[in-house]
Amino acid sequence: MSVVTIAQRPWSPRDLRRVGAGNALGFLLIAVGWGGASGETTLRSQSRCAVLSLIGLVVAGAANAAFLRRGRRALTFGTRRFVVREAPVPMPVPAPAGSAPGDVLVAGPGLTLFHRSECRLVTGKPVRAEQRSAHEEAGREPCEVCWP
Ligand SMILES: [Zn+2]
Repeated sequence: MSVVTIAQRPWSPRDLRRVGAGNALGFLLIAVGWGGASGETTLRSQSRCAVLSLIGLVVAGAANAAFLRRGRRALTFGTRRFVVREAPVPMPVPAPAGSAPGDVLVAGPGLTLFHRSECRLVTGKPVRAEQRSAHEEAGREPCEVCWP
């Protein structure tokens, strides 16, 4: 039986603290630069304050870019793990006596449908091969994915 594990959150609490701190520092620098520039009367002194605001913008942008990069990396890793676990090796199913290989119809305990042996819905599940008539007598109906 395969167990699918998907990362619930792409960011750790540490990542959230980092992006929060980066944005707080960036916006603080922007506010200080803005406030400083508003009190100045010459272009030269306003430019110094504007540089401080630009540095704040770069700090906040770098913090957000790093945050998104870490989240993307976590999601990519989770997707790869999910895909690898989603494709289990099919279990060999013994055919009942007197049937051709393409006619192997399988069902498992508690299943209400019967399937072709290669159907993805039974891949990796414990199933038993039987003739169509045996499945129908057991009250099972054909799968609507593999149409046995
Ligand atoms: Zn099926």
